[in-house]
Amino acid sequence: MKLIWASLCFIFVYVSFLSEAKSSLIQGSELVRVRLLSTTEKVQISGLGLKFHNLDRPYRPVAIPNNGHAEVRLMQREGKKVWSLRINNKDPETLFSEKFLYIQGENLRVGAQALPQKVLLHASKEKVDVVGVMPLEDYVVGVLASEMPLSWPMESLKAQAVAARSYALAVMNERKEQPYHLESNILDQVFRHVLAEDEKDPLLKKALQAVKETQGQKLYSANDQVLKAFFHSDCGGKTTTPKNVWNYGVNTGVATDSSCPTNPRAHWKLALSKSELHRRLGLPPIAKIDFIRNVADQRVLKVKVALNDSSEKLISANDFRQKIGFTELRSALFEMKKVGESFVFEGRGFGHGVGLCQWGSRALSRSGLNYQQILSHYYPLAKLK
Ligand SMILES: [Zn+2]
Repeated sequence: MKLIWASLCFIFVYVSFLSEAKSSLIQGSELVRVRLLSTTEKVQISGLGLKFHNLDRPYRPVAIPNNGHAEVRLMQREGKKVWSLRINNKDPETLFSEKFLYIQGENLRVGAQALPQKVLLHASKEKVDVVGVMPLEDYVVGVLASEMPLSWPMESLKAQAVAARSYALAVMNERKEQPYHLESNILDQVFRHVLAEDEKDPLLKKALQAVKETQGQKLYSANDQVLKAFFHSDCGGKTTTPKNVWNYGVNTGVATDSSCPTNPRAHWKLALSKSELHRRLGLPPIAKIDFIRNVADQRVLKVKVALNDSSEKLISANDFRQKIGFTELRSALFEMKKVGESFVFEGRGFGHGVGLCQWGSRALSRSGLNYQQILSHYYPLAKLK
């Protein structure tokens, strides 16, 4: 009995240690996990005072000489994935088991890319995900520095900071069980790690100020959930609802921007040959394309593609844009005409058109609106707290 009791105690202590280690290292209430890159190659890591360990094993420091580097590889040993760590190409390798390898250090880099001080390597199917772990407010600075020109007016930067913070928190809640919460590209929000030495730069100072002066402020939906606050580059004149684009999401209202349609920069044109269009859509020869539009904002909702064999495909405008390329078919606010054997798309705006419009917020900020007024313009049914 004693033995059973002792074993139970041991298991209890071990399990507590495990959850504690995980919670303190990577699951703090506002610690964001962002996938910075994914690679099948060896991961070359450099930095000062590097320390490596598994999440659920006692701490195991590995001393790296100054200017030294380490190489981490994922390999198979007896049917299991293990991490192999080799320092300066010569020393014997150290092995770590488990799905995650946790790394800490100053001036951490993978190749030439600067990383936050805490990084998690995650073994996915065939790849290694390099995941940065950082406080939410640091993350918002890195998004602001990547998503908006920092020369723009302060109030537009603050509005963007609140939207980015709200989006991140909503997604962190959705994906709390995943190895990482957010992608560092347009699939979520573009992010780059801001180095401490760059914080003296006058433009980055503006980003830090915008984040600090809105610290902790978030948008909430009518039912008091933190809002997945979408934003985009240019609405083209009118924003739209998430349901129109992705067929899901909370409607926080739409806005009209008088400045956006008049801007010549926002007008775009894309010509694709018939064969190029087939190739990008991954479809056999096309006979005809029709569009179903949203009456309120004239954006394309669905694309009806009639094929030569008289079958028909119905594609959402967002999938259509993704297949052609989000940066080429820049928005769903377009017209199409056939010129000879080519398809010519002409439109305005850039991005999905949901939530905050960055170019519009710049114009509103210049006309004297503050960030609270800008946010209530783009999310009229949401609350700022
Ligand atoms: Zn706009």
